[in-house]
Parts: sequence; C-alpha cells; structure tokens
Amino acid sequence: MEKHTPMMQQYLGIKAAHPHTLVFYRMGDFYELFYDDAEKAARLLDLTLTQRGASNGVPIRMAGIPHHASEQYLAKLVAMGESVAICEQIGDPATSKGPVERKVVRVVTPGTLTDAALLADKRDAYLLAVSFVPAKRGAAALVGLAWLNLASGGLRLAETTPAALATLLERIRPAETLIADGATPAEWTSGGAGALTRVPVWHFDAPGGHERLCQQLGVQTLDGFGGQGLSAACGAAGALLIYAAATQGRQLTHIQSLKVERESEYIGLDPATRRNLELTETLRGTDAPTLMSLLDSCCSSMGSRLLRHWLHHAPRDADVARARHQAIGALLADDPRGGGIAPLRQTLSRIADVERISGRIALQSARPRDLSSLRDTFAALPRLQAELATLTGDASVLVTLHAALTPPDETLALLRETIADEPAAMVRDGGVIARGYDAQLDELRDISENCSQFLIDLETRERARTGIANLRVEYNRVHGFYIEVTRGQTDKVPDDYRRRQTLKNAERYITPELKSFEDKALSAQDRALARERLLYDGVLQTLLAHIGPCQRVAAALAQLDVLAAFAERATALDWNAPQLVADEGIEIEAGRHPVVEAQIAHFTANDCRFHDERRMLLVTGPNMGGKSTFMRQTALIVLLAYVGSYVPARRARIGPIDRIFTRIGAADDLAGGRSTFMVEMTEAAAILNEASARSLVLMDEIGRGTSTFDGLALAWAIARHLLAHNRCFTLFATHYFELTQLPESFPQAANVHLSAVEHGKGIVFLHAVDDGPASQSYGLQVAQLAGVPGAVIRAARKHLVLLERQSLGHPTPQLDLFAPDEATTDASFDDPAPPDGPDSAVPEDGDALAHDGMNSSATASVPVAGMPPAEHAALARRLAQIDPDELRPKEALDVLYELRAILYPRRADGDPDR
Ligand code: ADP
Repeated sequence: MEKHTPMMQQYLGIKAAHPHTLVFYRMGDFYELFYDDAEKAARLLDLTLTQRGASNGVPIRMAGIPHHASEQYLAKLVAMGESVAICEQIGDPATSKGPVERKVVRVVTPGTLTDAALLADKRDAYLLAVSFVPAKRGAAALVGLAWLNLASGGLRLAETTPAALATLLERIRPAETLIADGATPAEWTSGGAGALTRVPVWHFDAPGGHERLCQQLGVQTLDGFGGQGLSAACGAAGALLIYAAATQGRQLTHIQSLKVERESEYIGLDPATRRNLELTETLRGTDAPTLMSLLDSCCSSMGSRLLRHWLHHAPRDADVARARHQAIGALLADDPRGGGIAPLRQTLSRIADVERISGRIALQSARPRDLSSLRDTFAALPRLQAELATLTGDASVLVTLHAALTPPDETLALLRETIADEPAAMVRDGGVIARGYDAQLDELRDISENCSQFLIDLETRERARTGIANLRVEYNRVHGFYIEVTRGQTDKVPDDYRRRQTLKNAERYITPELKSFEDKALSAQDRALARERLLYDGVLQTLLAHIGPCQRVAAALAQLDVLAAFAERATALDWNAPQLVADEGIEIEAGRHPVVEAQIAHFTANDCRFHDERRMLLVTGPNMGGKSTFMRQTALIVLLAYVGSYVPARRARIGPIDRIFTRIGAADDLAGGRSTFMVEMTEAAAILNEASARSLVLMDEIGRGTSTFDGLALAWAIARHLLAHNRCFTLFATHYFELTQLPESFPQAANVHLSAVEHGKGIVFLHAVDDGPASQSYGLQVAQLAGVPGAVIRAARKHLVLLERQSLGHPTPQLDLFAPDEATTDASFDDPAPPDGPDSAVPEDGDALAHDGMNSSATASVPVAGMPPAEHAALARRLAQIDPDELRPKEALDVLYELRAILYPRRADGDPDR
C-alpha cells in the first residue's frame, strides 16, 4: 500500500470496502473510475478508457463521467443490475494536506432507488430479502421474506414454504433480492428475483432482526402489526434494514409501519396464471395491451402504482371489494356518464407525487421543487375535499378518504413560510428559501440586489466631490469595483483614491468606502448561498417530523385516484357493478373479455354459470372459435370484481373465490430445462394438488403434448379428478370429443361450445357460447384460413376420412363437405395398378402418410398391396388426364417426375407431404 500515491491509497481503501460495487470517485467536476471498475464501466457505458500515470509501478486505467451528467449513467448501470458507490469529497480542498477527505455517501442499487430521475414513475421498485430456514426437529422448511419500497417506506413481511416461493416472487417482482452469503438452497430459483446481492449470513439473524425492526418502528413487540410468531421473516427484515440504511448512509425514518401478508389474504394466483392472464404484462413481455394498460386512466403516478398493486393483490375478503364498488357507485351517482368526477380528476392530475417526495424527505434528498410542489398539492387539498364532498354519498371509503385529505396544516404552514414561490431546481442556484423567513438571508440578498443603486449613488456623489464630470463607477470580474477617471482628469482625484489599474487612456481607483462595499457585496452572494443551503437542510430536517401526515395524504390521494379511474373506465367501457355474494358460484351474464374487446370491432358477449350442481364446463369448438377468450374473460371478471372494480358484463354474481389457476397455452421452458409437456403436467399437478371447491380453474387443451391416447387418457382422468375430488369450478377446453361424454356420468359437468358455421368454402366463427358439445372441430378449415397450401389440406382431408373409418372400425359418413365423396375414392381403388406395379418400389419403412395414428390394419384394407389408397387414386386420376400423343418431350419428362412424386414423395424432393 505504501508504494501507492496518497490519493490511490485513499481510493484503494474505499474500494476495499465496496469490492462488488462500482466506485464513483469524485475528483472536481468528474466521477472517476479506476482499474477494473474503469474497464467495466467503459464497456457498459461506452466510455473512453484512458491511462494516466502509474501507482506502485502499475499504470492507472481510468474512465470518467461528468458530475452533472451522472444521473443518466447511473440510470443505465442500475437498469443493467449494477450497483454504484458514490464517493464524494467531504473535506475542504483549500485546507487539506494531501488528498481531500472523501467518503461513500450512498450506494445506488437496483432495489434502493429513490431519485426521481432513476425510478420509473408508474412502477414501484422493491428490495427483497429472503431468509431460508431448513427443516429441523419435525418443523418443515420455511422461507422468510421482507420487502421494502424504499421510495415510499412501505415494508412488508411474509413467510411461506419453499415450494410457494416462486409464486410470491412473481407477485412481488423485486428489483433486487438479498440472500445470505453461501446460501444456495435447492428451492432457490433466481428467476423473478431481480438483481441478486449477497450479504453476510449474520445479517439474517432472527432475534437481531426482530430487535432492529422493533427499534425502527418504535415498538416493543410486533403483535400490533400481526407479526407475532414470525421469525424467519424478522431475520429477512433485519438484513433488509441493515442493507437499505447502509446504501443511503442514514436512518430510514419513513419506515414507520409494517404490513404482514398472509397467503390466505389474497386470491391466489400462481406465477403461470399471473402471466397467462396478462394482468400487467403481455406474454410477450410488453406493457400493452394488458388489463393494466386498459384500466390505467389514473391521473397521477401514485394512482398508477397503486392500481398495479391492486391488480396483483385482490383481497379474498369481499367486504374490501364491496366498499370499493360502493365508492365507484357514489362517484357515478350524479351522472352515470362520469361528468361528476371530471373536476375531481382534473384536480388530481395536478397533484405532486407526495408518496415519493415524502420518501425523499426521509432520506434528506428532496429537491426544492419537490417541496414547492408538495406545498401546492397540500394547498389544493381543500378544493379536492370540496369536490369529493359532493360525491361521497354514503360510501364509507369516500368518507374516510375525505377525512384523510384534510391538509396537514402545520406542514403546509412550514412549507409556505420557508420555500420560495417558484424555487430554483437546485439549492446551489439560490433563490430557494422564501423571503421573510430569515433576516440574515434577506439582508445578504438585499446587498447583492441593491448593488446597482449604491453604485449610481456613489457615482453621483464622487462626481460632485471631485468635479470630474465623466467619472464612472464600474465593476468587472477580474478587478472588482473601481472608479475610472480619464487620463486628462487624474490630477483632480482626491487623496483617498488608491490606484488599482492603469490603462492607456484612464486610471482606475478604489476608495476605502468602495472597497468595503466590494467586500460586502462579493461575499454577500456566497454567504447568501451558504446561508440558503444551511436553512434548506434545516427545513428538510424539520420536515422529518411531518412524514407521517405526508404519507397519510399520499395514500388517500392514490386511492381516490384509482377509484376515480375505475369510475371513469366503468363509464367509458360500459362496465357494471358486480355483486359479491356468500353462496358459492359464478354467474356472469353477457360477459366480455376487456382487453380483446378493446382490440376488435365487435365482441360477442357470453354468459357463464357455475353453481354447486354445475362445477365443470367442457368447452369445445373450433380453433379460433373463442374458447381461450371465453375462459380468460371469466377469470378476469372474477378477479376484477374482487379487486373492487366494475366488470365487463351486464350482470355478475360471484361467490367466494380463494384461488385462480390456469393451464393455458403450451410454452417450452427451455431455459428451465422443461419440455412443453413437462410444463403442462407440472401445472396440472399443482392444480390437482391445490385447487379447492372455491377455486376457479381454467384448463386449456390439457394432454396435447403427448400421443393421442396418452393425452386423452390423462385429460379424462384429470377432468374426473377435478370433478370428484377438487370440486373446483372448472372451465375445461378440449379437442377430445370423447370428453364431452363426461356429463353422462357426472351431472356437475356440462357441455358448452363455441359455435361456427360453414360458409361457402370457409368457416365463420360466431364466438357465441351455446349449450351442448360442438359437432366438429373444423381443424382443416382453420388450417386453410391460416394459409396452409391447398395440396396439404386436400391430403389431410383424405387422410382424415381414413382415420375416422379406421378408428370406428367401419366406414363413416363423410364429415367433410370438401373431401371428394367416398364413391370417387372407392372407385379409384378398382383402377388397375400401373404397369410396373408399385410393389417393388414402395419404401419398406412405410409411406408418407404412415404416422402415429395409423396402424397396420389400415394398410391391410388397401386393395393394392403396399400402396395407400390416396396415392393410388391420385396416380390414377393424373394418368387419366394425360394424352401421351399430345406431349412434347420436355412435358413428358415433367409428367414422369410428377407421377413419381405422387408415389415416392420423400425420395422425389424430400417433402413428405406433397
Ligand atoms: P380458441 O381458443 O378457441 O382457439 P381464441 O379464444 O384464441 O380461440 O379466439 C381467437 C380470436 O377470436 C380472438 O383473438 C378474437 O379476435 C376472436 N374472438 C374470441 N372471442 C370472441 C368474442 N366473444 N367476440 C368476438 N371475437 C372473439
């Protein structure tokens, strides 16, 4: 170490304390990065890597970023999951011997962002800590979680089983997760955990965490928060608080409360369901079109963030939702078209992000304009209250919100007294503290502001005193204030003039009076700025005691905003109030899929009815018929009702629901090493193990990932199990017509189908759900619509006839209008075999059409040994069309190729299906 320069010694000391974090080392107007940090930052941020001097004989690699532009670089790094330690100059360069004292003032990490510039407005960033407690002495393994929204101070705890961890992670979606050094529990999947940060194991100590938590909240016990008996979660909270405080370099005064989440509190959605329903993100990972993008007409970012939270946290307790429905009803009571809420929403659109500003006050990083907008928002509260008062009716939620929106008078008075009307963006620019707040500051400001008047007065006086008519009093940056006298007049200057500067045609002087004014004026500005900084810090400090009321107002504003957005959406989209009832069942009249409806011109509304005696609907119908849409809309309507929103249905009556499960769509989880079928079965297993009589289950096409008979058998057994054991409400979409017979043995099952009609050569989907099973699946017509070549469709049609005949063991009536009728097909069988019969040439490993579904008995029924009837017919038909005498040599050769391709498609051109 001694061999390094003193500055590098200082740097290396700081770097040693932050080995896994990039260190931004402040040097003048730049943050510099050194050595490996420099290389990494240069790579990630596309900076120029330089090399300056050497320390300990090694060249110092450097990369720098300008201080004033640091935020944009920080934002990029954090988005890439990197953390940055910000190391500032603490000492005074003028008085320091050796390098200026420096200190890491905060660490910017993905989960601890609070700066407005680094955070997404409409999305919260969570820091999560996960503590694993292995099974021991009969107690099962446990996972403790604590997560924090540092920008608002919201802290939550939960405990769960290792198996349910993924579900919780998917719900929380942390930006950063802390786990103990060396902990690699089997159940840990880093998916969905954001950036991973390891912290020392002892930070997770449970008793220590409990104590730290009590200290933070100023309580003796956590019982008041429902935290009794939580030990793993307390351990996690301990690690979380240590880390969060360390990154900010200060105490977190805004964490004043705690919420303990119990799994049973919310309608359970497993990770797959959360994704499948596309609540806040599409399956492709975009923000729109989703339920969130449709619903978010919130006027403020606070509202948008709360809405996102609500969509993922539908309470099982129907009273919560009922109260919200009542509030929406009241907001729309005056004018069902939403006219009544317009003024309220207008006011809401002008409010500040009180929640995040409160957080920045707690972290003492609030900027002057944060405080002025906080003041203006508080000042607007009476107006908001007045607008709300006309709408509350007897909605208890609105009455409570009205009370919570009472302006925090003391805070408002303090802000009015201290903060200038329109403060500068930065304290360093001055003009931030209100006039009249501090006499000393006002005097300093007067001095610099009154400067010009003083100079004019002085000039007049000196001209009179000296008799020099063209004497001028002036100022420049280099020489300060001076009195300028032209050369011809210099003999008239009085004795107290001291020469300051000689020019070609003039002399410049200073007088004791002007000198003392100069001292005062020049330092006044500096002193005013310093004074403002001091006063501003004092205001921030004082505001710490006001965080509680600020958080109260923030919460009320966000809720009101979401409820008003629900009301606005309800009118704009023609949604209605659902009824949440105590008896089990789901009754939806004219329900629609909100997101699909918004994408297309005409949506067909459908009913869905479940009750104790009707627990499974087998949904059949063609592909593209609307089965998935129907199933998903049912889930979304149920979820929306419990979130507290109105719903896209004419009428909805919904009983208690504990969870919603979906087995929809098949996606390979290649990254997770699971095939489509494995994913499908894993999800099915979870449903079979966990669904209760109060669960809503959507099963789409179960069993499609394996061979027909396997799949059918599994689908049948799964449906039976759901009916007999789980007794959940199930929408079971299937292409296996065999399953439509289930209602014969299970009266709680019923068939519905999505109807379609054939029209000319195509098919028209009616998208209407009717009773009874579908009569056919129209697979070929849909394939045709999708642009599958006509030759393939024709081949498929013929093969379909064969398969159907074979599976029923006797000739079937023709199912397909467009297949050549059987008479033609059969007639062709009688055609004589071509002269040099196919026997010798048929490939031994079967023909192009042989596959899973075709067994030897089918081939045996073909009259010409070894030649499938379809090919045989095609060959015969083609030959019949040819007149050899008419063919030119080239055409004859082409026909020969063509005929050969009919018989030996694989060998002809490698395309087995031609
Ligand atoms: P399936 O699951 O039966 O293959 P989908 O539910 O995916 O069919 O629906 C296919 C398309 O049909 C949807 O993308 C939508 O455009 C349209 N659709 C579905 N249901 C309706 C409906 N009720 N009214 C109007 N269009 C619908």
